[in-house]
Amino acid sequence: MNLLLTNDDGIHAPGLRVLAAELAALGPVTLVAPDRDQSATSHSLTLHRPLRIHRHGEREFSIDGTPTDCVLIAFHGLLDPKPDLVVSGINHGPNMGEDVFYSGTVAAAIEGSMQGVPAVAASLATHEAADFLAPARFVRRLVEAISRRGLDGKQVLNVNLPHRTWETVQGVRFTRLGTRVYSDTLIEKTDPRGRAYYWIGGQDPVWASHDGTDFHAVEHGFVSVTPLSLDLTDYRAVVEMEQWDLRP
Ligand code: MN
Repeated sequence: MNLLLTNDDGIHAPGLRVLAAELAALGPVTLVAPDRDQSATSHSLTLHRPLRIHRHGEREFSIDGTPTDCVLIAFHGLLDPKPDLVVSGINHGPNMGEDVFYSGTVAAAIEGSMQGVPAVAASLATHEAADFLAPARFVRRLVEAISRRGLDGKQVLNVNLPHRTWETVQGVRFTRLGTRVYSDTLIEKTDPRGRAYYWIGGQDPVWASHDGTDFHAVEHGFVSVTPLSLDLTDYRAVVEMEQWDLRP
């Protein structure tokens, strides 16, 4: 199995390093990752400046761009043949509920699926210092299961791993995206020249703890696996709006 490994925390992030070492047992792993932290860059593409690729080893590259740039460049420049699976992570911090829309980790996996191969995004649900070894071993077992059972080219699995002593992990739950209770704040300050500037801030996300969601699973000590579908269409609204009397 040919694997493309990327992340949004940057090429030096421990979650990426530990996962690369684990996945190497499954076949050739090509590492293409941003040269610095690109968390919360979502699915952005760099279009207004050139991108530079730095080669660190035979199968290891960093790019001065976003996670999506990395996957795109890997597919269209660096990798021949194409990978069988894209793995993104392990992110240092959770990516659950609506946060998947901000996440560079999830975006890189989605880009893999847009390039026609299945993908896994993996995140460890803590911002504290953490050991990624046991989580990386789980991701490896998941990738082994994917290679046995197969996933079609459009599928993305969003995996969130609980941060706890691994022996106490309760199991795996297949979940839906949860809902965040927004507590974002905008903090206004004044710079030395008297002009206002702003920080987007607030507390850590608070989640509505509904049974069956990613957040609920992780909160109760389970690994959460959410299969994502990329079609955002609201089909019910399409049917309802057919009744609207709009004429061009
Ligand atoms: Mn990140």
